[in-house]
Amino acid sequence: MTASLLDGKAIALQLRAQYREQVAVLAARGHRPGLAVVLVGENPASQVYVRNKVAACEDTGIFSQNVVLPADVRPQEVIDRIEALNRDARIHGILVQLPLPPTLDEGEVLAAVSAHKDVDGFRTENVGALALGRPRFVPCTPKGIMVLLAQAQIDPRGRDAVVVGRSNIVGRPTARLLLAADATVTVCHSQTRDLAAHTRRADILVAAIGKPMMITGNMVKPGAVVIDVGINRRSDGSLCGDVDFASVRPVASWITPVPGGVGPMTIAMLLANTIEAAQQAANREERCLAD
Ligand code: NDP
Repeated sequence: MTASLLDGKAIALQLRAQYREQVAVLAARGHRPGLAVVLVGENPASQVYVRNKVAACEDTGIFSQNVVLPADVRPQEVIDRIEALNRDARIHGILVQLPLPPTLDEGEVLAAVSAHKDVDGFRTENVGALALGRPRFVPCTPKGIMVLLAQAQIDPRGRDAVVVGRSNIVGRPTARLLLAADATVTVCHSQTRDLAAHTRRADILVAAIGKPMMITGNMVKPGAVVIDVGINRRSDGSLCGDVDFASVRPVASWITPVPGGVGPMTIAMLLANTIEAAQQAANREERCLAD
């Protein structure tokens, strides 16, 4: 068996074409969607992610604003900048690029983002809504994974899904979405005993670990769907995932490449959430005018 590719790059391109049309319709109603990206410090990987997000906005007609602050910025200054963006009618989504420098309290900074503009879905209310199975803004990477599965007509219902990783931005929300889609979900982490015993049971295996090529072919059930979230840089500068693509592809039925799998879908979902936020703002404003 050779797994088919879940081609996130191609799917994201198709989605972007649809988003361009939705943005044009909203802009014609006087509600051009806008995204602000807040970057603190000079983490080179974060700079690349921010550049890609801003370019994706430009490509689809979304207004974007880049707020760059030095690593030694005062915490109150970051909060003040976010609150100004909360008040800015041109901005519908605010993304704080993580990780933040250790001098800043991540929870406090994320809490400053208005719930209406939390397009990353990281605020406690949005995390809670997702946990209750009533999602509002769904975090972009997990949402992108579910869209990838849907595009390949892979229905999680009744399947054993194993998510390796329990971070707040990937592992946990992905597990919640798979549960909401009626999969039987196991979440593994660094303290899991005998990881391979779990991964070998998975019909759908999601690797969000941050350890290069950790999932090998002998850890995968024949015919499994394998989603590789990891983005790791090798010493030669090239990228690889958390899955050993060469040994897993002959075992799996579907697999995401790295790069070109989950990464482009994450950016596409950020655009989708920003458009949704603009749509909600437009509806609120039009309701107010009608009252
Ligand atoms: P975190 O470091 O926050 O979480 C990693 C998780 O992996 C933790 O839950 C950790 O367990 C678990 N883990 C670590 N070692 C092991 C092990 N030996 N066995 C089992 N579990 C282990 O990472 P993120 O979730 O933020 O990101 C994961 C990867 O995904 C990274 O490579 C990141 O770059 C990439 N990423 C890619 C995105 C994309 O768009 N493609 C978006 C976001 C992230 P514990 O909780 O016990 O510490």
